[in-house]
Amino acid sequence: MAQGKKVVAIDIGGTKIASALVTLEEGAKPVVEFYDKIPTEAKKGGQQVLANAIKMARRVIELAGEDVCGIGVSSGGVIDPRTGDVTYANDMMPGWGGTHLGAELTAATGLPARVLNDVHAHALGEARWGAGRDASSCLVVAVGTGIGGAFVERGSIMLGAHNEAGHIGHVSCTDAAGVPCQCGATGHLETIACGPGIINRYLELG
Ligand SMILES: [Zn+2]
Repeated sequence: MAQGKKVVAIDIGGTKIASALVTLEEGAKPVVEFYDKIPTEAKKGGQQVLANAIKMARRVIELAGEDVCGIGVSSGGVIDPRTGDVTYANDMMPGWGGTHLGAELTAATGLPARVLNDVHAHALGEARWGAGRDASSCLVVAVGTGIGGAFVERGSIMLGAHNEAGHIGHVSCTDAAGVPCQCGATGHLETIACGPGIINRYLELG
């Protein structure tokens, strides 16, 4: 890697879109500048989310000057990192599934863009710079309004055949038998162990 490569980082979640300029230098912890965030406006549909993401990327490029070499994106939903497409998104981001996110960002900025699922991206960061730094493998579990997960093995994300490997919120759990999951199935871990799931369980048990 060349010294001091600058990339735009964009994180697209259900609530906010965050952006920053990140300087990568061989062997050094990345330097983050120009951190900013705006509402995703997910309920307005995929086109609005895309427009907001492009707006954020352009703003960082403008602040950085001319030496930006690419865009790294993490997004909610199922992402195909080979194409940069959002292949599926649930009702939290209506119309986001089917967005050619990487290609659209490249078309709008002229820069190469690489896209990962947000939990996969989080796990990669955690494995390289965080809790997993000194380990050869690392399982990251993200507990929030849902439960996401990702497995990093020797610096590489395990993607699986459908780019959904490590999403442990949707494994079967006997305590959740019969409880409907937002994925459409029943009995998944997420239904009783994510934030809202814990509250529902608490109320149910009185
Ligand atoms: Zn499920």
